[in-house]
Formats: sequence, structure tokens, C-alpha cells
Amino acid sequence: MPNQTVRVRFAPSPTGYFHLGSARTALYDFLVARHYNGRFIVRIEDTDRTRYQPDAIPDLLEGLRWLGLWWDEGPEVGGDYGPYYQSDRLPFYQEYAEKLVREGKAYRCYCSPERLEALRAEQRAAGLPPGYDRHCRYLTQQEIAHYEAQGIRPVIRLAIPTEGVTEFDDFLRGHIVVENSLLDDFVLLKSDGFPTYHLAHVVDDRLMEISHVLRGDEWLPSAPRHVLLYRAFGWEMPIHVHLPVILDPSGKGKLSKRKKVLPDGREQFTYIHDFRRAGYLPEAMVNFLALVGWSYDGQTEFFSRDQLIRCFTLEGISKSPSALSYEKLEYMNAAYIRNLGVNDLTGRLLWVFTQQGFQADFDTVFRLTPLIRERIKTLNEAIQWVDFVFTDDFTYDPALLIQKGMDIPMTATMLRAALEALEPLEAFDEPAIEAALREMGARLGVKTGTFLGTLRVACTGKQVAPPLFGTLSVIGKQRVLSRLRRALSALGGLAQ
Ligand code: GLU
Repeated sequence: MPNQTVRVRFAPSPTGYFHLGSARTALYDFLVARHYNGRFIVRIEDTDRTRYQPDAIPDLLEGLRWLGLWWDEGPEVGGDYGPYYQSDRLPFYQEYAEKLVREGKAYRCYCSPERLEALRAEQRAAGLPPGYDRHCRYLTQQEIAHYEAQGIRPVIRLAIPTEGVTEFDDFLRGHIVVENSLLDDFVLLKSDGFPTYHLAHVVDDRLMEISHVLRGDEWLPSAPRHVLLYRAFGWEMPIHVHLPVILDPSGKGKLSKRKKVLPDGREQFTYIHDFRRAGYLPEAMVNFLALVGWSYDGQTEFFSRDQLIRCFTLEGISKSPSALSYEKLEYMNAAYIRNLGVNDLTGRLLWVFTQQGFQADFDTVFRLTPLIRERIKTLNEAIQWVDFVFTDDFTYDPALLIQKGMDIPMTATMLRAALEALEPLEAFDEPAIEAALREMGARLGVKTGTFLGTLRVACTGKQVAPPLFGTLSVIGKQRVLSRLRRALSALGGLAQ
């Protein structure tokens, strides 16, 4: 790495919610900055007023914080290179565009939208690539004065070399050479005084002393323009790293920004807030995203944040696109859940239950946590496993009480037997419940699985639930007894 301080920026445009692709870029920015003891900067590129979405910025900042990608400079924290919203930096762009005009490297263009449209139509008809024909590049002083007198507000365009080639190096792609004849005099400053992305980010990357630009591959075709702009200013270019695109799970198309609903009803999220709401852990998301296009040794899968910071290098970024595997994310999330300490997981589950409107408390969830931690792939899956603990108001089909090979009278006998076994218990804990029910099952002469199957449906409303003895203990004695009685009367209803 150069001796220069590493300064890396994440520069989102607030045109939509924070999605997986941007989150991966932000993570790589963060990891490069941390790995090389540099600075991680967030800059909001909000100069495209037509596509601006006001709720995109809070969504983005919340997403970054949730992932733990704390920034050293940027919105809310400030810094020495601010402001960090491009809409607050308009005077800089105007000043630098004017400088190029004064030096004859850029010029004002007065062409009307109608003229430009007609030009594009002509080019299309002739099968030529679209591009500005440099009409205003060679205007005389009189012509300029004429347009100015009409009050036309011009744009500013860069006067690029009409011959030769533009060359640059991309960290991943290597040396790239483009014929200048394929490029046109692109707009730097629009007639309303707002910059284009091209001008704004080059000026900002320079003024903010950015050392590395990591951005999506979709910007690679524009990179030669940026090289020309750096040249026009006489500035050295930061190291550019164009990140390969993320493909959808089939590996066939680019990952869409919208969530997809699969034929079986499962949803494939792409917005970060959807993952958060569905109960993914930020630690798992970070680990997972790091591996979408980067690898350490081709095999290590699990990395803590500190390990990622230690191991992450630009050299490890893949040159080819990677397909996103939702299965892998689920698998990783489940592994992270299993590895959390009970107290930590309890706190997170308590939050999920409370958010869903359940009257949950820490102690109850603390007792449930060991019973379900091996069974859930997301925090929210805990709800379907143990919702019956927090509400008595659940329904089930009484026919489910009757186990295979059993009938109504025999099922009623088992329920009464369970009441008889559990009622006298003083300590309603797991060992006492287990002993009492096993003994009663043996006395009845039914298989333990059959006996417990009926009790499970009666007390949880489900055929599949966490281990029963522990679960009954958490539900509590009085509620278990009343659920058994409720099941008995439901069975009575079946008999009629
Ligand atoms: N604002 C651009 C985007 O959101 C940033 C590209 C860059 O990092 O330079 O795509």
C-alpha cells in the first residue's frame, strides 16, 4: 500500500432503499479502511433531484449502523472534509467547472433539449452511437453573446481530445485502453447549476483526499471520462476497483433490487431492512456479504468482524461475478444464532417477541432460548416455535389430539392421566415433569411417543414443538392443567 493515508468512501445516491449490492460495497469500503488503518467516509450523492427519495437516507444510515459499519466521517458525525452531502457542496462544483472553462478545457453549451433530441434521432436513424456533436465547442464570441442575450442557461461540457486513446489501470481489470473517438463531450454542470455524477464525484474524491474508489462494475464504462476529467484538472487518480456484479441465485441475471417471491411463497429479500426485520443477525450478514465476491483462502467460511478486518485485502476480491445464495445466508445465520451466548440471544429474541406484540419477559425467553436455539434459522422463526407460551389464545384441530392407532376414549384417558400425574407436582420443573409423565405413560401401557404426542398438541397446539418437558415447565403448572382440561372438552365435542 502507498504511504498515503488510506481514505475510502462509500458514496450512495439516495434513490432507493439500502440493498444488498450497496451493502457489499459499503462493507468492502469499511474493511479496506480498517485493514489499512485508514478512514471510512460516507458521502451522500444527492444531486439527482428527479430520482431523490427522502426516506432513502435514514434507511441507509440505519442499515449501515445495524451492520456495524460505523463511519469516521460523514452524515451526523461530520469531519474535516465536509460537508458530506453533495447538495451542500454546489459552490465547489461550480467553481471547478468554471476553472476548466477559463482554461479552455470545458465550454458552455446552449443547445436546446429539442436540438439534442433531434440529433439523437438522426444518429439512431444512421445507425451511429449517440453522442453530442460538439456544436457549441467552437462557437465565436458573437455567437456566445447572442445566446447569452437570449437568456439561455447553458450546461458546461468537457472538451475531450478528439483523437488518440485514454488509458488507465483498474485494480482488478488491469490496463484499459479506450479510443477517444468513442467518447463525447459529456456534461459536467447542468443548466440548473447542479453537477453530474462525473464532475461531483471527481471533485469530491479529490477534495476529500480519497485514496481508493470501490464501486460497482456498472461504472466501468464511464471510467475513461473520469480519467479525462482528472487529467483536465491535473490531478492524480485514486486507485480504482470496479467490483464485479452480484448475480441472482440462478447465476443467470443480475440480482434485482426488488424482492422476489418464489413459487412456494418464500421471499428473497434484497433490502437490508427486510433482512433485519426477518430476524437475520448483522454478524451473519456481514460474514455472508464479505464472501460474495471475496475469499481468503478459498475455503474458510466463518470470519468474525475482527478476522475480516485482519484478512481482507483487495487482492482477494474476485474478478468474476458471484451468484447470491440465500441458502448459504440461512445456513450462516443459523450457525451464528447457535453460537450466541444465551443472554445475548435471549435479548435479541425478547426484542422480536415484543415487536410482534407478545407480552414476553426476559426470564421466560431466557428459559426458552436453549430449547429453540438449535431449531431456528432466523430470530423470527422463534415465534412459530413458541408463540403458545405467550398466549392462551391459540386454536388447533382437536382431531390432532388423537395419535396414530388411538381413539377418542383412549385419548381422553391419556389426558386425564396427565392431569393426575401433573396436578400433585410441587416443583413444576423439567425433571419432575419428565419423571411424572414417564411413570404415568408406563402405567397406561402406551408408547411414550404416543402419550407425549397428545400432550404436545393439547399444550402447544402444534404437532412439532420444542422438547416437551422443558416447554411445559415454562408454560407453568396452572396453564398446563387448564390446557389439558380444554383438550378434554374439545375431545368431548368430537365424540358428539
Ligand atoms: N453515487 C454512485 C452510486 O450510488 C456512487 C458510485 C461511486 O461509488 O462512485 O452508484
